[in-house]
Amino acid sequence: MMNEAPVLQGTPVVPGVGYGPVIRPAPRPQIAPSTQIVPDTAREAECARFETAAAVVADRLRARAMHASGAAAEVLQANAVLAEDRAWRAAADALIRSGSDAPAAAAGATGQFVTLFEKIGGLQAERVTDLLDIRDRVLAELNGDPEPGIELPDVPSILLADDLAPADTAALDPTRIVGIVTTLGGPTSHTAIIARQLGIPCIVAAAGLDGIDPGTAVLVDGATGRIVVAPDRDEADAAVARDHADRARMDAWTGPGATSDGQPIAILANIQDGSGARAARSTQAEGIGLFRTELCFLDRDAEPTVDEQTDIYAEVFDAYQGRKVVLRTLDAGSDKPLRFADHPDEHNPALGMRGIRIAAAAPGILERQLDAVAAAAARTGATPWVMAPMIATVAEAAAFAEQVRARNLVPGVMIEVPSAALLADRMLAHVDFLSIGTNDLAQYTMAADRMSPQLAALTDAWQPAVLTLVARTSEAGAAAGKPVGVCGEAAADPLLACVLAGMGVTSLSCAASAVAAVGARLSSVTVQQCQEAAHAVLAVDDPVAARAAATSILG
Ligand code: PEP
Ligand code: MG
Repeated sequence: MMNEAPVLQGTPVVPGVGYGPVIRPAPRPQIAPSTQIVPDTAREAECARFETAAAVVADRLRARAMHASGAAAEVLQANAVLAEDRAWRAAADALIRSGSDAPAAAAGATGQFVTLFEKIGGLQAERVTDLLDIRDRVLAELNGDPEPGIELPDVPSILLADDLAPADTAALDPTRIVGIVTTLGGPTSHTAIIARQLGIPCIVAAAGLDGIDPGTAVLVDGATGRIVVAPDRDEADAAVARDHADRARMDAWTGPGATSDGQPIAILANIQDGSGARAARSTQAEGIGLFRTELCFLDRDAEPTVDEQTDIYAEVFDAYQGRKVVLRTLDAGSDKPLRFADHPDEHNPALGMRGIRIAAAAPGILERQLDAVAAAAARTGATPWVMAPMIATVAEAAAFAEQVRARNLVPGVMIEVPSAALLADRMLAHVDFLSIGTNDLAQYTMAADRMSPQLAALTDAWQPAVLTLVARTSEAGAAAGKPVGVCGEAAADPLLACVLAGMGVTSLSCAASAVAAVGARLSSVTVQQCQEAAHAVLAVDDPVAARAAATSILG
């Protein structure tokens, strides 16, 4: 009997199949603690040496940003800014002036900021990988070594790594890296977001990668999270060919969103600003299903004025003139703290003052935002739908709806907390639509931090408990005759999108880069197949069985 090829499992984040030999990133530079004291007379020159190296690194990152687009360009640009950060350079300067050499100062200054960022937590803590990456680039420059990172292979290869710096991922060429698998990282990490934009199949939180030697052929399936080590060559080639056929179908798909037998399901885009909205126009997205307004203000110390907010929202409404735009009010707190939102110090911020709850912590903030949305709507002639994040009670939904209607806007709420899903019918007595945020719904249903790579299997939206709440919510929408959309990452998974359609959701909103894959997949199946798949996934006990059940029905 032939031995089966070993199969590892991770969390799938970007669908697609890749097959090729394994490569790994070059090791990061080793930082040997320097005992050498730079003499007084040489310190000025050592400061200049550090400054030059930091400037070279920043320039290189900026040059790469110019050749990238979307999330990749943003990450490279943000890292270039970080490499020039005044406080970081001043910390290094101070260390050199007290006798450290430039490499020790780069490492020491970075260490200070890593400690600070980790203490602040949330998004700042996520930037620690960026800081360490910049440190390594500066060290390599100071040592005259080649830039650390990924050397692009000659043959299409699979990149295995513990974790990847966003700047490394952003520089990848999808014709040469045909799959990414990491041990760390979550489905919403920067690496995952950039891989999605580049269209590279990607799996995160995979255990057991250390045992795979460079050069070993592996087959990765970014839709199921399976990594087959040394697979049968013919089977691997067939899987890749099937994937290419899927991609060709994607390229041929022209929208609008519908099943093969013509049941319409709107396919919308998730964006965070005007430029994202304009970029989404180059896809088949029929509108904006989630405008994450808090992401416009993460770098602000003070609340933006109503006029400033009006300009920002109007840019998005303008980009989608005459189409549907769903704006979400500030979802500040937890992993997205806003400095001006008066967050209290909390032991457990994901369960604390976030989302709609900041309306109580910072009185007037919601009203001013709604005034700005109404002004932007009046200026552009748009009729935006406006929804609140993290609604947990019917009273919250009712109060929000009243404020939104008072401004002639269309109110809705996000379903991200199990209590809201369980009471979806009562929420609908007050609002005109629901939008299911499966990222948080999974986090709160499974009591598992969505940022934790160790818990990625629990925060998987294919968990039957999460899908049961989705089904219940969409049934409530059907009974009330009101739309229910999905705007979490679940809507970006083409197979799951068909299952959601089978549960009766009326729209799917995902990253612009996922729109074609979702639309094309949906156009390949009938409503009945979607409904059968929905039925089947609700009858099994775990995500692996749910995916298998859906695949057997939807192909
Ligand atoms: C969600 O929770 O699914 C969602 C769409 O909101 P966010 O990811 O911004 O928390
Ligand atoms: Mg959410």
